[in-house]
Amino acid sequence: MKKHNFSAGPAILPQEVIQGAAEAVLELDDIGLSLIEISHRSNEFKAIMEEACDLALQILGLEGKGYKAMYLQGGASMQFLMTAYNMLESKAGYVNSGTWSTKAIKEAKFLGDVIELASSKDKNFNYIPKGYDIPNDLDYLHITSNNTIFGTQYKNLPETSVPLVADMSSDIFSRPLDYSKFDLFYAGAQKNMGPSGVTLVIIKETAFNKVSRSIPSMLNYEIQANAGSMFNTPPVFPVYTVLLNLRWILKNGGLSGMGIQNEKKAAMIYDEIDRNPLFEGFANLDDRSAMNATFNLVDDSSAAIFDTIWNNAKISGLKGHRSVGGYRASIYNALSMESIQTLVDCMKEFERTFN
Ligand SMILES: *Cc1c(COP(=O)(O)O)cnc(C)c1O
Repeated sequence: MKKHNFSAGPAILPQEVIQGAAEAVLELDDIGLSLIEISHRSNEFKAIMEEACDLALQILGLEGKGYKAMYLQGGASMQFLMTAYNMLESKAGYVNSGTWSTKAIKEAKFLGDVIELASSKDKNFNYIPKGYDIPNDLDYLHITSNNTIFGTQYKNLPETSVPLVADMSSDIFSRPLDYSKFDLFYAGAQKNMGPSGVTLVIIKETAFNKVSRSIPSMLNYEIQANAGSMFNTPPVFPVYTVLLNLRWILKNGGLSGMGIQNEKKAAMIYDEIDRNPLFEGFANLDDRSAMNATFNLVDDSSAAIFDTIWNNAKISGLKGHRSVGGYRASIYNALSMESIQTLVDCMKEFERTFN
C-alpha cells in the first residue's frame, strides 16, 4: 500500500498522473515508441509541449491576455538569476520572507541594485511582512507567494503599480488568484506540478526587452518564449508529466476546485494543531500556508513517541526543515483528505498516550 506522502518536494502527485507517466515511458499513446526516445521535434512531442503551455495559461485564467508560458530547466533557483538578468535595469525591490527569498536576493545582486523592502527574519520568518513602502520607480517587486520551509503564504498580494514578480514554486495551481496582476511568475515543478527537472515560467509579453544589457540566449526569456521552450532539448519526461497533472487539475475543477479542497485540508490540520495541547503552530495565524503546515511539539522530549505513531501509520515526509525543526505537513493538491485524517488521528492518539 502506498504511504501517506507529506514530502515538501519532490512531492506527491495524483496516482493517475504517475500511472500515465509510467505508461508513456513504456509506450506513448500507441505510437510504438517510448516518450523518452522520440525527438522533441516530433509532431507527438510538439503537441505535448503546446498543450502544456496552453493548458497552464487556461487554468490560470491568462489565455488571450498577452502572456507566454515556458518550460525551462535549472529549477526555480535559475529563475532567481534569470528574472534579474531580464528585468533588473537599475533597481528592484524584494521582500525577504524566507530562505528562498534570501537566495533570490543574493542572485539578483549579480545584476544590479536590490532593495530589501521588508523582512520577517527577526522572527525566523514566521510571518509575511506587510505595511512597507514600495517605491514607484522600481523595475519590479519580487515576492515569494508561499514559503515552503516556514509555512507562510500571502493571502493578499501587495498593492503596487510596479511590475510584480513572484516565486510560486510551492503554491502554483493551488488556488484562484488574479494572476494578471503579475508580470512574471515561476515555479519549479517538483512541489505542486510534476517531477523535478522543469520550471514553469509565465511572463507578460510587455516584460520582454526591459534592460539594456545583452542577455545570453539560454537566459533570455524572449528567445526561450519565441522558441516555444525548445531553444534546446526540453526535459520531455517532466513536461509530459506536468501536462498529465494539468489535465487532472482541469478535470477536478481547475483552480477553484483545487482551492476549495486545499482550504478544507488546511483547516483540518490547523484545527487539530490548535485544539491539541501537545502541539503548537509555527506560523503567524493570518499567514498560515494552505500548502505547508509547520508545527512543533510543546515538549520536544516526547518526540520519539509521536514519531513512532506516525511512522506506524505509514506517514512519510513529516519532519520539519532543519531551520524550523518540529514537523511540516506538506499538503499539496494531490494529497487526499484521507491522508490528512490519518495524520490528525495520529496527533489525537499521541494525546491519548498521556491520559
Ligand atoms: C523548492 C523551492 C525553490 C527551489 O527550487 P529548485 O527548483 O530546487 O531551484 C525555490 N523557491 C521555493 C518557494 C521553493 O519551494
